[in-house]
Formats: sequence, C-alpha cells, structure tokens
Amino acid sequence: MSHQNTIASSASVSGAGVHTGKPARLTVRPAGEGVGVVFVRTDVTDRAAEIPALVTKVTTTELGTNMTNEAGVSVATVEHFLAACAGLGVDNVIAELDGPELPILDGSSRPFVELLEQAGVKAQAAPKRVLKILKPVEVRPAQGQGGVKFARLSPGKGFTISVVIDFTTKAIGRQEISFTMTPGAFARDVAWARTFGFAHQAEQLHAMGKGLGASMDNTVVIEGDKILNPGGLQAQDEFVRHKLLDVIGDLFLAGGTIEGLYEAEQPGHALNNQLLRAVFADAASFAWT
Ligand SMILES: [Zn+2]
Repeated sequence: MSHQNTIASSASVSGAGVHTGKPARLTVRPAGEGVGVVFVRTDVTDRAAEIPALVTKVTTTELGTNMTNEAGVSVATVEHFLAACAGLGVDNVIAELDGPELPILDGSSRPFVELLEQAGVKAQAAPKRVLKILKPVEVRPAQGQGGVKFARLSPGKGFTISVVIDFTTKAIGRQEISFTMTPGAFARDVAWARTFGFAHQAEQLHAMGKGLGASMDNTVVIEGDKILNPGGLQAQDEFVRHKLLDVIGDLFLAGGTIEGLYEAEQPGHALNNQLLRAVFADAASFAWT
C-alpha cells in the first residue's frame, strides 16, 4: 500500500483567472497527514476562509469546478490544480490564494506540476486513502448539459480512465483515450493538455461575466473547423487529453485516490460531480481502504 505525500517546502505562482480575469497568487505549503488539499483565501479575513477540496463543497460546475465553504467563501476553477495534485500523488497541501479564482496560467496543469515539483513531493508515513469502487455506478446528465452522455465508475485494479468526446467541428471530431494512473504518467501524457473553447461563444461568455481572462495564451480557440492559435496543437488529441485532465481533477474531490475504472462519453464538471455524489449516496458502492 502506498503512503501519503505532502510537499517539502512552499512555492508560489501568480496569474489571472480564466473567468473572473482577476489576478491571484497561489502559494502551496506543506500539510500534515490526513489533512487533504485545503484552499485558504488569504484575502478574506472576516470569515472562515478555509475550503477543503471535497465533493461536498462543490457549489457550481458551469465552465469549471467551483467550491464554497459554510461561511460563503468561494474558490473558482480548482480542477487543473487538483489534477496536478492527483497526478503527482500529493495528498496533503495547503493552497493559499489571495483572490477568488485560481490562475489559469497556460490553460493546462503543467505549471501546477512544476509548482509542486519545485516545492518537492515529500513522503509521509500514513497510508494513502483509497476509495475502492465495489459496484458500478452510472449517471446521466440532468437537463441542460448539451451533448453530455454518461459517466460511470466500476470496480477495477488501479485507476483507469476512459474518455470519449465527439464534436461536429473537424478541428476535434471524435477522440478517445484510455489512461492508467502510474508514477510519471500524468506529467508525461496529460498535464500539458490545454483547455479549449469556441470563438463564437466568447461574446456570450463575456455577457455572463465569464471567460474574461481567456485568451489564446491559455485556451485553444476553435472557429468553425479551424484552430486559431498560431502555434496550433501540441498533439492532435490534445482535446480529449484535456477532458481526461479535468476528470482527474474533478475525481480528486473524492478526498482520496480512486481504485476503479472511470468511463465517460462527453463528460463535464457537472457530470463528474454528480457521479461522485452518486457513489457516496450508496454505501454499498464503495469502501475506504
Ligand atoms: Zn479544464
């Protein structure tokens, strides 16, 4: 059984949030065994500012995974950072943030992987918390999640994630990937995949007060069948790899490592959250080991 990890020292990174456009500085600090990932809003001083990275704290899942604590203090767009924690096996970390949203940086998890590596992954004595899936749990979307099909967790050895996406634009088309979490695999195969968006939706997002920090520096932008970024893609299947990255981040909100098989077609943050809640709602479907 593998052990929990924290980081050896502190490290920081700064940048604007993709939705709020507001700058924030993220500082990661070591945390004790069993603490988990805890966000702390250092710009909030009049209320409890800690927000544990747990599925029960997720409040909205529109265009990103956002969490709120009992005092009404929120942190937005946590998934790319959490994916880096999951991918490097960092269980316990304090993530201080002096603004409402995590920096989007280059739109992938790579800068967060570098941040955690800079701080140094450090082994702890306690065994890892593992959420073992004991029977299949499947969810289908509530209304309003256009294109989303299903997401399922089933029993399996290790943690394997299979994702299919299907978009009408020829820039994406149908893409699928199956990935098993092993040491080093996340940084090599997933972390660098950037978020993506459609040029025709930008105005609509701005009208909703979203996507205010989005640019081609942090988003692969698609218009019709074309990719507008001058540098193009890092890989033809960068899109499905980013979906995989989001799934890894969202599922880390279980509060431990998953032992099981995740399969989904057209998943999104809402569906991933719905899936974890469905698992926890049925005591026969999981065991903590
Ligand atoms: Zn994402």
